Amino acid sequence: MRLLLIGPPGCGKGTQGARIAERYAVEHIAAGDILRAEVAAETALGRQIAGYISAGALVPDDVILDVVVPKVLAAAKADGYVLDGFPRTIRQAAAARRIAEEHASAVRCAIYMEVPQEELVARLLRRAEIEGRSDDKPDVIRHRLEVFTEATAPLIDFYGERGLLDVVDATLAPDEVTEQILTALPALVRARPVAS
Ligand code: AMP
Repeated sequence: MRLLLIGPPGCGKGTQGARIAERYAVEHIAAGDILRAEVAAETALGRQIAGYISAGALVPDDVILDVVVPKVLAAAKADGYVLDGFPRTIRQAAAARRIAEEHASAVRCAIYMEVPQEELVARLLRRAEIEGRSDDKPDVIRHRLEVFTEATAPLIDFYGERGLLDVVDATLAPDEVTEQILTALPALVRARPVAS
């Protein structure tokens, strides 16, 4: 299983990523968690990226590629992965694909978790009360949603054009979303991806 979950902030990628990874016994690689761990550990990298995260801006592609791609290749070499939050730009996707294809480790299927904007804002504000993330503040939330639309949403076509993508309704209850993803995966995995 080499799956990518694409979706705006607040769509439930983290929850679903953990569940699907457990079900298929593969690694769940959540880019945001990796970055937040660096910030919490106060590493040199953590200090470099903290400002981007709390502003709701994307960390530069080269930094992300250095940090995340080795983990993706290692997981692919073991049993596979569920990616959540990476790639997040076309440049990241193209670079990761180029590197991963050399190692037969590229994303094999992608799921777009669709949720309307108004619902996302409400969800993220609720999460702000529970988790207290530095980027769950109203103006930062709005910026993160804009960043998704501008930089990340083009990935839907990137993977769709390659025959790798399915869409699920992520407004449903978490268990129903999991069911939809698990139902969509076998056909996606069987489908022969068209050349990149
Ligand atoms: P997330 O937990 O996926 O919502 O990510 C939280 C924050 O981490 C994002 O708003 C970005 O600042 C940063 N981040 C996570 N993944 C990436 C990525 N692939 N590229 C750039 N920045 C990222």
